[in-house]
Amino acid sequence: MATGLTAADLTDGEFRLRIRDWLSENLTGRFAGLRGAGGPGREHEAFEERIAWDRSLHAAGWTPLAWPAEHGGRGATLSQQLIFYEEYARAAAPARVSHIGEQLLGPALIAFGTPDQRQRFLPAIASVSELWCQGFSEPGAGSDLASVATSARLAGQEWEITGQKVWTSLAHLADWCFALVRTEPGSRRSDGLSMLLVPMRQPGVTVRPIRQLTGTSEFNEVFFDGARTPAAMVLGRPGEGWRVARFLLGVERGAATFGQQIVFRAEFDDLVAQARRTGAAGDPVLRAKIARAWAGLEVLRAYALDTIAGPDQAAGGTGAEASVMKVLWSRWHRELGELGMDVAGAAGMVAARSPYELDGWQRLFLFSRTDTIYGGSDEIQLGIIAARGLGLAREPGGRA
Ligand SMILES: Cc1cc2nc3c(=O)[nH]c(=O)nc-3n(C[C@H](O)[C@H](O)[C@H](O)COP(=O)(O)OP(=O)(O)OC[C@H]3O[C@@H](n4cnc5c(N)ncnc54)[C@H](O)[C@@H]3O)c2cc1C
Repeated sequence: MATGLTAADLTDGEFRLRIRDWLSENLTGRFAGLRGAGGPGREHEAFEERIAWDRSLHAAGWTPLAWPAEHGGRGATLSQQLIFYEEYARAAAPARVSHIGEQLLGPALIAFGTPDQRQRFLPAIASVSELWCQGFSEPGAGSDLASVATSARLAGQEWEITGQKVWTSLAHLADWCFALVRTEPGSRRSDGLSMLLVPMRQPGVTVRPIRQLTGTSEFNEVFFDGARTPAAMVLGRPGEGWRVARFLLGVERGAATFGQQIVFRAEFDDLVAQARRTGAAGDPVLRAKIARAWAGLEVLRAYALDTIAGPDQAAGGTGAEASVMKVLWSRWHRELGELGMDVAGAAGMVAARSPYELDGWQRLFLFSRTDTIYGGSDEIQLGIIAARGLGLAREPGGRA
């Protein structure tokens, strides 16, 4: 790292000053226009420049923030991660483009990968030279992920993959996909699945964008039609895919939401500023809703701090705490989008520019409708909380 110091050598105060200074010195020149760019519903914004920005973060030694130093990461403590995200949001630095590889796959490679796989993939993820997408959901397997039907069979020294994935975020930009597929013919449910690492740029892979309410296309259908990947590209043992998938879902619902908390606070602050500007803050009903949102944000923060480093996450499981977190933040954020429209009033109903160019709050409102769906829907999280957290009987045929 540029400082020549590992994260452990710095006090939290020193760490804060260094990242603050670095951001203010570097969000200038060619990167000055990136403030506030990107994020859900706006991933198309300044994409190439944001890749360059992500690379500069890595070159300066800031990322991958949470990976241990021996795997090429910054090895930041939890409190340093929190400080990083606080300063990152304060500087309005752009949304990261490499988060799926860095925050989801990276930890799984460290936990389950062979030395060869780690050596092959971790440096390329860290330096943002390869982007990843997550191939879990299928038309017949979303909440019921164990119904995955995409299959792969060994043909010589390669897996040959056939089937369809859907809602695959950023697949149109990804170089690789970690895909949950059925590798044991005739196996059922969570048995016989494997996590394959599949190159996206090959003749057997077709990516078809799906247009969203926001007018943008961030997720896709992905068709595997005899796609190939070497036999060694299986993460965990063949047949162990469910275990790896559960680990990944635990990370997605838990530790990976850390930075999100800080973004939420920046969005909330912007909402309050808007309400002051438009006079909406004088409306007693809106004032009460804003106050309630603030209280909700405080609960989120407290719960995250209390549980994110807890045994549940350390074990990488998809336990009840990660599900409680998912239910809390997704509902809170969806309601924030609605509140944003309340504050905007009638103007919120009209696109900022013809034919369909939305402003930040309109996009947030529309995109946040998905918060209670992706990463496991609300109903599924409540089922997990009931079964694992409270020990209540599972529903017949339940999937928790
Ligand atoms: C913005 C966004 C990004 C996404 N990105 C990705 C990605 O990158 N990779 C990927 O693999 N997937 C991705 N997904 C897919 C996401 O994981 C699925 O949409 C989600 O798991 C729900 O699956 P489904 O859409 O098939 O809905 P279904 O499973 O068909 O569910 C439909 C409704 O029925 C409810 N339901 C289902 N089962 C039960 C039950 N047992 N009890 C009670 N209610 C139930 C659900 O809660 C939901 O309300 C993304 C989704 C969104 C919205």
